[in-house]
Amino acid sequence: MAKPSKTEMAKYRSVLEQQLRTLGGDVGAMREEALRASEQDNSVDHLADQGTDNADQAFTLGLIENEEETMTAIQDALERMSSDAKVPYGACMKCFGEVQEKQRKKSEMWIPKPRLTYVPWASYCIEHQEEVERNRESA
Ligand SMILES: [Zn+2]
Repeated sequence: MAKPSKTEMAKYRSVLEQQLRTLGGDVGAMREEALRASEQDNSVDHLADQGTDNADQAFTLGLIENEEETMTAIQDALERMSSDAKVPYGACMKCFGEVQEKQRKKSEMWIPKPRLTYVPWASYCIEHQEEVERNRESA
């Protein structure tokens, strides 16, 4: 594995910025939608519909939460692209820590390119991502 090249970095950056704009618009629209739905719940007395409305709203709020998480991850990734970032962009945060502790070679901390192409805001290699998610679920 290798550090992303300048060209690759520029490509990932433009994808990340584009995605951040798209998600920002989505989240804004969904928030409005959820707000409108909750206002309607109070004024309309369609009890039969209310169940679905609430389920829809919970679903929308879940989506908003997911998208906001992704937006935070994208912002982090963009920050890590700056030269004074603590953990450089493209490196797995956990593998980076292991490099500091001399448990891993520097060349082994980079996230594989296919993963970055698919998830350019990734901050962990697949192995560590799974570990982080397992820990989160059990927490
Ligand atoms: Zn890792």
